[in-house]
Formats: sequence, C-alpha cells, structure tokens
Amino acid sequence: MKIAIDGPAGAGKSTVARMLARELGYVYIDTGAMYRTLTWKALQNGIDFSNSSALFQLAENTFIRFEYNSSQEQKVICDDQDITLQIRSPEVNSSVSIVASYASIREIMVKQQQLMAEAISVVMDGRDIGECVLPDADYKFFLTASIDERARRRVDELRHKGYEVNEDLIKTEIVRRDENDSHREVGALKILPDSIIIDTSNLAIGQVLNRMLSIIREDN
Ligand code: C5P
Repeated sequence: MKIAIDGPAGAGKSTVARMLARELGYVYIDTGAMYRTLTWKALQNGIDFSNSSALFQLAENTFIRFEYNSSQEQKVICDDQDITLQIRSPEVNSSVSIVASYASIREIMVKQQQLMAEAISVVMDGRDIGECVLPDADYKFFLTASIDERARRRVDELRHKGYEVNEDLIKTEIVRRDENDSHREVGALKILPDSIIIDTSNLAIGQVLNRMLSIIREDN
C-alpha cells in the first residue's frame, strides 16, 4: 500500500503522515527532510546555491538515511551524522526551495525515494509524491490550509524548538517558498485530478487523521 501526502509548508502533512503510518503499521518517509539535508550540507560546505553543478555533485556524494523508533519518529542521518534538529533551522528553511528547484537534484532524490518505498507499505509526504515519486499510489491526499494558519503553526513549531522568530517574516518566507515550490519546472506542487483535498485550517490534527482513516477504511 502506498499513500502519498502532498501540500504546502505548514499544512500539517508531517504530523498527520506520522500518525497515519503509526496507525496503519506502515513506514513514514519525510521527503522534505532529504531536500533539507542537502541544503544543510551545502551550507556547511559554503556552496553557492546558484551553483547547480556543485549542488549536483554534493547530492551524488551524500548518503541520507532514516532511523525510526517505535512511535515512527524519524531520525535523519547524513553520512553517519544525526542532523535531525539541524535541518529545521531558519537558515535551511529559507534556502531549501532553491536547492529543490533544480531538476538534476530532484532526479537523484526521486530515485532514492522510490527505492526506499519499494516493496514496503509507506506513507510518504512532500510536494511531488503523487505526481512523480509514487504516481501509482493507492491514495493521493492533498493537504492545505490558509496562509495565516500555516504561518501560525510554523511560528509555534520554531518557538517550541527554541528559535526566536518574527511572525511577519515567517509568513513572507512561507509565501515565497510556496511560490518557488508551485512554479518550478519539474516536480511542482499541484493538485492532481485524483487528489483527495483536505483543508486543515479549521481542523484539529486528530480530525484530519480520522478523515483520512475513514477514506482508507471505507475501501478496504
Ligand atoms: O516538507 P518540508 O517543508 O520539510 O519541505 C522542505 C522543502 O523541500 C519544500 O519547501 C520544498 O522546496 C522541498 N520539497 C520538495 N519536494 C518534496 C519535498 C520537499 O521540493 N517532495
């Protein structure tokens, strides 16, 4: 069984994807973490984000893997270093969509994601999962929410992690990231003809989960 969850930043994808995977006994794969990892490594190495060939080289020489505990919480390991926390930094947030805009980088990532999902049941979240990574997914959910609500959630998340944040700046950055993610040539964020759209603006996470579970269980 393959379940794809796409949508813009802050729509609640990763929280609900993790819960859904736990509920169904599937593996959760957070593809955004892979683009974040590459962005983090590029920052560490002082690579210019306009240098697509240096970024491509970096992607080819980066080994990303996930480790899970019993709650399906995911640790992100890059070349044997645990960088789970580092990839959520504001610096990574503001540059990740540039790294993700290069078709050559996406090709490497999509192949790795397809390999990870091969032969297992997965819940995978990202931007291009339904279209590029798992085009034959059993379910393609598209989660969205108002920009104000998404910005509020991102502010809460960052404050919870100890970052000092300015709400207006976060909102501006989310709008810019949405723009980049929706308008790139390859793997753009979009609603597909077979997307199941859920607006999470006024829903608690448990309600989103129940809605998804009832759609899946109705069929099985
Ligand atoms: O989901 P998350 O916000 O962690 O993703 C970070 C960024 O990674 C997105 O804004 C997007 O630019 C990129 N991404 C992508 N394709 C995916 C997952 C994430 O381009 N499948």
